[in-house]
Amino acid sequence: MSELTNLGVKDIRDGVARGDFTAREVAESFNAAVEEASALNAFIVTTPDHALAAADRVDADRATGKDLGVMAGVPIGMKDLFCTHGVQTTAASRILEGFEPQYESTVSSNLWVAGAGMLGKLNMDQFAMGSSNETSHSGNVVSPWRRNDGGNTPMSPGGSSGGSSAVVAGRIAPAATGTDTGGSIRQPAAFAGIVGVKPTYGRCSRWGIVAFASSLDQAGPMARSVEDCAVMLGAMAGFDPKDSTSLDMPVPDWAGGLDANLAGKKVGIPREYVMEGTDQAILDSWERGKEWLRDAGAEIVDISLPHTKYALPAYYIVAPAEASSNLARYDGVRYGLRDLPDGAGLQDMYAQTRETGFGDEVKRRVLIGTYVLSAGFYDAYYNQAQKVRALVARDFEQAWAECDLILAPTTPTASFPLGDKSDDPLAMYLNDVFAVPASLAGLPAMSVPAMLNGDGLPLGLQLVGKPFDEQGVLNAGLAIEQRAGFEAQPEKWW
Ligand code: GLN
Repeated sequence: MSELTNLGVKDIRDGVARGDFTAREVAESFNAAVEEASALNAFIVTTPDHALAAADRVDADRATGKDLGVMAGVPIGMKDLFCTHGVQTTAASRILEGFEPQYESTVSSNLWVAGAGMLGKLNMDQFAMGSSNETSHSGNVVSPWRRNDGGNTPMSPGGSSGGSSAVVAGRIAPAATGTDTGGSIRQPAAFAGIVGVKPTYGRCSRWGIVAFASSLDQAGPMARSVEDCAVMLGAMAGFDPKDSTSLDMPVPDWAGGLDANLAGKKVGIPREYVMEGTDQAILDSWERGKEWLRDAGAEIVDISLPHTKYALPAYYIVAPAEASSNLARYDGVRYGLRDLPDGAGLQDMYAQTRETGFGDEVKRRVLIGTYVLSAGFYDAYYNQAQKVRALVARDFEQAWAECDLILAPTTPTASFPLGDKSDDPLAMYLNDVFAVPASLAGLPAMSVPAMLNGDGLPLGLQLVGKPFDEQGVLNAGLAIEQRAGFEAQPEKWW
């Protein structure tokens, strides 16, 4: 039965529907894989019973001839940023230790309605702040990938959705949810040789997702194929009156609309994305990407996104500003941890709870955010960053006069050893230099595996589309996937 864990979303769903195997058999196989994989530290909580109960419902529905949902029988990993009813949700922070939400996030609820089950809550960077999974209170996730040098240097799965990327790459889950504020779906997907999609801002409801930077946060699927991501995104997306920024638009049938013929499409290559410090192998993968898209019928055109170099600094003002406001709610009263020293007053409890509960990176962000929002600095930093954000968005709007899609690398480097950048926040932030512009502009974007570098580590290519054009992004991703023939998978050492 172990080969069931090699199957992806669509193959599981179709196999269950045909009766090739039962949903229970699938859930049992993946539950066993989860149990075996503790060395990766990818789960904060495992929920084998949730996966089994969902599977039993699907098997019962099938037996009685009921319609099955698009995710029927598919057990998935759930990033620990999604509130799950009665199941501890911590955002990988000590401050939420023991917090069991009394509600279910809209996205996870949509997935359960579509027939998915939950294998567990996935480890991540604390409050989704990080690019290597090292800011988690639950310890870092170890990538299933290793360099091909015969050594066993533990590598980063990327972040913040590093538990998600690790389990999908390691065939411990066929798919997982991720969230992307400034690259946290795309960068870990690239590091782990899987596909990750950040839809247009507003496609997936943010309701019940622990907030980091609300004007940027978006949920999306991570899986091993473009088609699986299209299926899962279809189940996750949809209008939600409980999120005021939710898009009130129909959800297209992205999976049904997949078409790798790009005839008539123009793909822009932003000249400002050629940056110092980018690995040669990344540049090579970009060249191949252009060839693949040309081969699929697209025309490749040079474009300019002139404000690119200001996007990262603007992001690291806007995101911390929003985070400092969102994280004000963790006061020791309402959620999780309460640190109440003997004889302490209310103010001491707030301060002590936050001192004990937040990790260093989270504190750094809260301090930066509070600073850039403070009277006297607001205009110099926050307002200025908002203006830069508008200019970055305008760059894209102008580019759409010349192209339908944009192709770029997802990251400037492949995965790096754990610990390599953890003492250097700026080096860490640079991971997202190619991902952040699309986040600031709210555009749909994805990472799709391209090739391995000389160290045997995966590299991803990024596609960015016009607002609401997830279909165009997925189609170009499919064209790359079909030509890249990326079959590599990590050798099982755990
Ligand atoms: N790595 C970026 C950060 O630390 C992006 C995180 C994210 O997208 N959640 O802010």
